[in-house]
Amino acid sequence: MKKVILIKNGELVLKGLNRSTFEDMLVKNLKRRLSPLGEFKFIKSQSTIIAEPLDGNVDFDEAVERVGRVFGIVGFSVAGVSEKDIGKIKEDTLEVLADELRQAKTFKVNAKRSDKKFALTSPEICREVGGFLLSKIPSLTVDVHNPDIIVTVEVRDKNVFIHGNQLKGAGGMPVGSSGRAALLISGGIDSPVAGYMMAKRGLTLDAIHFAAEPYTSKRAEMKVRQLASIVARYSGRINFMVVPFTEIQEAIKDNCPEELFTIIMRRMMMRIALRLAEKDNCKALITGESLGQVASQTIGALACTDAVCTMPVFRPLIGMDKEEIVTIARKIDTFETSLLPFEDCCTVFTPKHPRTRPELEYIEKAEAAFDFAPLIEKAITDTRYQSVD
Ligand code: ATP
Ligand code: MG
Repeated sequence: MKKVILIKNGELVLKGLNRSTFEDMLVKNLKRRLSPLGEFKFIKSQSTIIAEPLDGNVDFDEAVERVGRVFGIVGFSVAGVSEKDIGKIKEDTLEVLADELRQAKTFKVNAKRSDKKFALTSPEICREVGGFLLSKIPSLTVDVHNPDIIVTVEVRDKNVFIHGNQLKGAGGMPVGSSGRAALLISGGIDSPVAGYMMAKRGLTLDAIHFAAEPYTSKRAEMKVRQLASIVARYSGRINFMVVPFTEIQEAIKDNCPEELFTIIMRRMMMRIALRLAEKDNCKALITGESLGQVASQTIGALACTDAVCTMPVFRPLIGMDKEEIVTIARKIDTFETSLLPFEDCCTVFTPKHPRTRPELEYIEKAEAAFDFAPLIEKAITDTRYQSVD
């Protein structure tokens, strides 16, 4: 039997956004994510988007997985497409939901009839289909209040759709509906999670990684790219940039007080990230910082970092414990990759006693001892670009 995916979009978040813009973006994102699997047609109909495969070779299971990772969707179901004939509907219900029904103890039938010309009313459809299922699967009983499975039969203008329980969608808003922002991505646990969370709020992502070869290896960079590609399963394509950061780090080490290495390094990262972000029309930066996690993430240190920033810096993890962050990292499947033991540019030059309460004036003076501007320009010019999805 032919199958389609019925997609319910997130109506509750429509407030700031006009509904058709929201839906158009969602359809565009769905098209992009499903097109590598084969040809699909998308039909907008009665607060549902119907994704219909147009050829038999489509990897339907993979399509269902992918829909589950598209933001802007509250729930979705896999539906069998039946005909406007009650006998056929009964047989098809059994066929589509056989496995689920055999695992369930209780069920109820829910009929929706938008085609008012259909011969049976909704209660009649429920009775017919319910009675049929009871006769075919004797272990089942009806529970109208709290059933294991709700069998839904939707009689629409052209087709009849049959499906079981709705699956939970990824939530959030369609990627792109909030604009574009640049994620500072390291090989750690936090920054990929931060990227996922902001993509969920409708941001298209760029990802900027600072690499310090030869202190850090090519494999460390590959690990970060791998993390970006896992995030891209949710966010869609990511413009991935690798900034050669070694010379700047060495200049910091040779010219600034050791206790300020980390904070000055972070300010240099921000300066470069801002410029790269502007070039690609990003309107904000994203980091994986969490208050108090390390010396560079105290209020004072964050204030010193922000002092060089001319666009908003989103820190979605700021109020989260490591454990909460890890839970999300596991859910989105970045955790294992983040644990791979490769060095990061931050750890290469970590001072023994970093300042947790740096003063801006002191930092600015330390930075003025060396002319970093040419090195910043060079790093920007030498940045390598790649598209990750
Ligand atoms: P993460 O787990 O994301 O590495 P962290 O707890 O190790 O975070 P820091 O190393 O202090 O924290 O980095 C804080 C944030 O700065 C990171 O979440 C990330 O957004 C950014 N960052 C750190 N290192 C890099 C890097 N090499 N390239 C790009 N961004 C980085
Ligand atoms: Mg890190």
